[in-house]
Amino acid sequence: MRVLLVEDERPLAEAVRAGLEADGFSVVVAGDGVDGDWLAQEEHFDVIVLDVMLPHLSGYEICRRLRARGSTIPVLFLTAKDGEYDEADALDIGGDDFMSKPFSPVVLAARLRALLRRAARSAEPDPRLGPLRLELARRRAWLGTDELRLTAREMALLHYLVHRAEHVVSKSEILDHVWDEAFEGDANVVEVYVGRLRRKLAANPDVTIETIRGLGYRISGRTP
Ligand code: CA
Repeated sequence: MRVLLVEDERPLAEAVRAGLEADGFSVVVAGDGVDGDWLAQEEHFDVIVLDVMLPHLSGYEICRRLRARGSTIPVLFLTAKDGEYDEADALDIGGDDFMSKPFSPVVLAARLRALLRRAARSAEPDPRLGPLRLELARRRAWLGTDELRLTAREMALLHYLVHRAEHVVSKSEILDHVWDEAFEGDANVVEVYVGRLRRKLAANPDVTIETIRGLGYRISGRTP
């Protein structure tokens, strides 16, 4: 199980990392909000642990952005006991659990395992399209018997296309669903990501993403 830990207090981050690794988790640490937000978007994790008060971007903002993109990844907030934030805020913003500092890494590991079990139980049925299967709870994708190596963003894009399979989906619909509502960059980013997905799907001709000129994209699958 892969954990993203976003925590700017280095000694605490290292203690938590050591505790979770001893418990069998694989841990990636980000030391500020911007790095944490980027990793949460681009890499695959099973659960995210967010400190609230972070340099550059708060834990709440990272969680808000994740939820705005439709991510259901379990999020646990670390809250300072004397902080100005209320723990209810952590849950309102889309967090699944919180722990007040100081805490025991052993208890944190147990809480993370509980979150992962809950996420697996509430998972929707895995979407399928021809030989393609998305395993949403574990955020993994399979093409036949081969696992696809996808970033979190590529996974979100593929999930959205498969959800709308056999329909033409416009770039702006994709931007609204897969990127942040507030995304103001170049819409050509969609082309870049569709290109990456096509290359990763190229091994199997039974799944194709067509470009429909002037309209958007359409994913289709044939059951071999
Ligand atoms: Ca902090």
